[in-house]
Amino acid sequence: MQGIIFDIKHYALHDGPGIRTTVFLKGCPLGCWWCHNPESRSGKISSFTKQEKISDHSIESVETIGKYYTVAEVIKEVEKDAVLYEESRGGVTISGGEPFYQYRFLIRLLKSLKRQDIHTCVDTTGHVDQDLLRKAAKYSDLFLFDLKHFDDKMHIKYTGASNRQILDNLIMLDGLGKDVEIRYPLIPGMNDDEADLYRMFAFLDKLQNKYPISILPYHKIGTDKYRRFNIENKMKGVKEPSQTQIHKVKKHFEEAGFEVKIGG
Ligand code: SF4
Repeated sequence: MQGIIFDIKHYALHDGPGIRTTVFLKGCPLGCWWCHNPESRSGKISSFTKQEKISDHSIESVETIGKYYTVAEVIKEVEKDAVLYEESRGGVTISGGEPFYQYRFLIRLLKSLKRQDIHTCVDTTGHVDQDLLRKAAKYSDLFLFDLKHFDDKMHIKYTGASNRQILDNLIMLDGLGKDVEIRYPLIPGMNDDEADLYRMFAFLDKLQNKYPISILPYHKIGTDKYRRFNIENKMKGVKEPSQTQIHKVKKHFEEAGFEVKIGG
């Protein structure tokens, strides 16, 4: 069996505990306006024609995103960092896109990593089938779980999907007693309404476990990709949050009793 991977990042420090290798699986069912990897959304290997200007010349080239890997090939790649995992209590994070988009490959990879006794983490949108999530939970030590918007209508507007399944899935993982870190992307003017935040706090408070929060401030690093890959950018004119805005939101989380950090 093969999966389509669009990147393998070594020495990752923000995708879970310790030093990690992050494996990015291609494909995502959402379409977040602020996505900084828009080229990863298609579940197929994709090619983009790029136009670049060098001096007065316009040069056209084709960039291919994604490559087939077997589980054994991924294991061979991540095992290169095995010493670092041991020394730093790190491991392997499987991210996307949405890793469950290729759920068969994801679950096989997780099983294989656990056979090697490697700490595993899945970075998910939560917009996934609950039975598959439960299955993957047997082999995943930690979930990085996105909460992008608490208002369902706004969630649909900005991501293309309802948040109901996502919230149900978080309740399910909580019931299983899994380790979870909540990831909240802070997008000014889109998901930082205080009333919505307080509703999110109330929801999180009702869970059996109190999960740490990572605030991921919107950044424009991926903006150029929209131009390069000729994809519509709906974030034109949206600014990155200021330090004041970021710390204000952090303070709200802290006052609600959450352990919170900025960044992954
Ligand atoms: S879930 Fe992540 S990869 Fe998918 S569209 Fe949203 S930001 Fe992009």
